[in-house]
Amino acid sequence: MLCKIKDYSFIADVMLGKLARWLRILGFDVIYDRKFDDESILKIALSQNRIVLTKDTKLVFNAEKNSLKYIFIKENNWFNQLKGLIHILNIVKNDVCIFSRCPECNSPIKQVAKEEVEDLVPDFVYNTFLVFSKCRNCGKVYWDGSHKKRVEKILDKLFEK
Ligand SMILES: [Zn+2]
Repeated sequence: MLCKIKDYSFIADVMLGKLARWLRILGFDVIYDRKFDDESILKIALSQNRIVLTKDTKLVFNAEKNSLKYIFIKENNWFNQLKGLIHILNIVKNDVCIFSRCPECNSPIKQVAKEEVEDLVPDFVYNTFLVFSKCRNCGKVYWDGSHKKRVEKILDKLFEK
């Protein structure tokens, strides 16, 4: 699958957990850990050539000092943050690859045979849904449930003009 957003990789500061989660749902590569301090964020951004997403002016100052790429997020609400960011990056709806990345741990998720998840999901889910995916890192299983409809509704709102 062609995925324009694969060109981007980010590291988000501690205040942007919800934004990081939603960027992952759209398929963006985002490192986020509540335990990271400014120093570790700068170190990882530098070594992995990641764009720093931050609400913190001190981190902006230090990113600039280290010649790192960064995006200063002014909005407080995650939806407005996300909307602002896709606008800055000039991302359109066709560019995103929803459910290609695990919202929990940022690893790629892969479609798996239904039998493979029989012991991993509730019986009701196993008997109701046809398509399952699994995270290659943390093992979390995903299926096309009500969550997918909710995400698609949010995407419509996100990309409307
Ligand atoms: Zn995972």
